[in-house]
Amino acid sequence: MNYDLIVIGGGPAGYLAAERAAEAGLKTMLAEKNTLGGVCLNEGCVPTKTLLYSAKMFDHVSREGAKFGIHAQGLTFDHPFVIGRKDKIVRSLVAAVRAKMKQHHVDVVNAEAKILGKDSEGFAVFAGGSEYKSRFLLVASGSETIVPDIEGLKASLTTGFALTSREALALKELPASIVVVGGGVIGLELASYYKAAGCEVSVIEMLGQIGGPTDTQIAANLQKNLTKKGIRFYLNAKAVKIQHGVVAYEQEGVTQEIACEKVIISIGRRAVTQGLGLENLGVETDRGAIKTDLTCRTNVENLFAAGDVNGKSMLAHTAYRESEVAVNNMAGQKDFMNYSVIPSVIYTDPEIGGVGETEQSAKAKGLHFIVKTVSMNYSGRYFAENESGDGICKLIVDEKNNTLIGVHMIGSYASEIIYGAALMVAAGFKIKDYQKLVFPHPTVAEIIREAMFI
Ligand SMILES: Cc1cc2nc3c(=O)[nH]c(=O)nc-3n(C[C@H](O)[C@H](O)[C@H](O)COP(=O)(O)OP(=O)(O)OC[C@H]3O[C@@H](n4cnc5c(N)ncnc54)[C@H](O)[C@@H]3O)c2cc1C
Repeated sequence: MNYDLIVIGGGPAGYLAAERAAEAGLKTMLAEKNTLGGVCLNEGCVPTKTLLYSAKMFDHVSREGAKFGIHAQGLTFDHPFVIGRKDKIVRSLVAAVRAKMKQHHVDVVNAEAKILGKDSEGFAVFAGGSEYKSRFLLVASGSETIVPDIEGLKASLTTGFALTSREALALKELPASIVVVGGGVIGLELASYYKAAGCEVSVIEMLGQIGGPTDTQIAANLQKNLTKKGIRFYLNAKAVKIQHGVVAYEQEGVTQEIACEKVIISIGRRAVTQGLGLENLGVETDRGAIKTDLTCRTNVENLFAAGDVNGKSMLAHTAYRESEVAVNNMAGQKDFMNYSVIPSVIYTDPEIGGVGETEQSAKAKGLHFIVKTVSMNYSGRYFAENESGDGICKLIVDEKNNTLIGVHMIGSYASEIIYGAALMVAAGFKIKDYQKLVFPHPTVAEIIREAMFI
């Protein structure tokens, strides 16, 4: 069967590419070996946010309720119910993606796809017992958890003592204690959920701060808040052995142990490139990820790669945009990625939103900049809704041009506000122009306006 486009992988990059391609009039086939929606819908963005919403509601009422005049007795957290609710939400959203594919007349093949090669007729792809041909090919095969070489880890994954994020999001019974190896975004979100649900939680992080490349001051603020909730952090620490209900870690040359019922491995993800048949086309890779340019093209003519598989920015919203850029270029419309204004969010409580340069990245690039930092309490709404909240909003401003080059905030609604900040950074207007913008009052977003005036 001949197509204009074959898409390998039905995650955010793959299903949106298929939808946009169909809208552009390309006859499209999508191969998905697992479940439509990919990691994001089935075991990533949506499941974590569903669990974290229950955690936030419970935590607010049980720990903070009295400060707001709410006195609840006999409150319990029903973990199996929360997991069941998450499964229902996921099922509905997966069905919605399936319906979208049908509505757009995308042929979905539920099978593993392998690239056989390319000739004058185009790409040849084998999936579900048949061979398909296409003019364009988009690889959107996503990413998988990195399993580091830690003594005892492989065996512990087999016995179920160690979990990846996939199993951690499907645990039917609540363990009494959990150690999370890796204090990046995913590790912190899982740690937050399990702490609120009632577990003892410890996080082992190799770096000197949590949250990966998050602004250092904001990462420290988050650590302080999560510590207040009872999560224990071990920084500059390395897990060295995982066995029999114990995780051993090394910190400043000393090895110590933490006893726990489960350990979650969350040190990062890597592109899925094995078994795709990339070698049959001579596709260039870089540290295991498919090499792409700003149009999402690879080194092979008419072969594109979008989403986690190109390893550039492993986020679902980046995957969405990359898939559009790829399809626009296939359809003859020039389009480019701008990786410098992709917002990043950590959905902990308090939550973090950031875009553009941080103080640290600006310094590393030798930029001349000033930092405008303001307490979130300057927003009337934040103050009303957060008893003893200590959120901050930081603007990174280019000194010479007086333009916004970064915005970073920690506090309620940061995840919802940050897209507006991204627009401001991308547009590149001067601070004096943004000072004329009218923000609705009272909103937490007003804090950006407030910061512009200091
Ligand atoms: C716990 C967790 C939480 C996350 N939270 C967020 C968040 O809040 N916000 C955010 O932006 N990102 C988040 N992410 C990251 C996000 O899930 C990914 O960036 C996103 O899923 C990438 O989309 P993708 O389409 O590139 O790949 P994927 O979603 O990984 O989809 C790839 C698909 O390709 C299929 N596939 C692979 N090989 C083949 C083959 N040979 N044939 C057929 N099919 C194949 C796979 O089965 C899979 O379904 C989270 C990730 C995790 C693990």
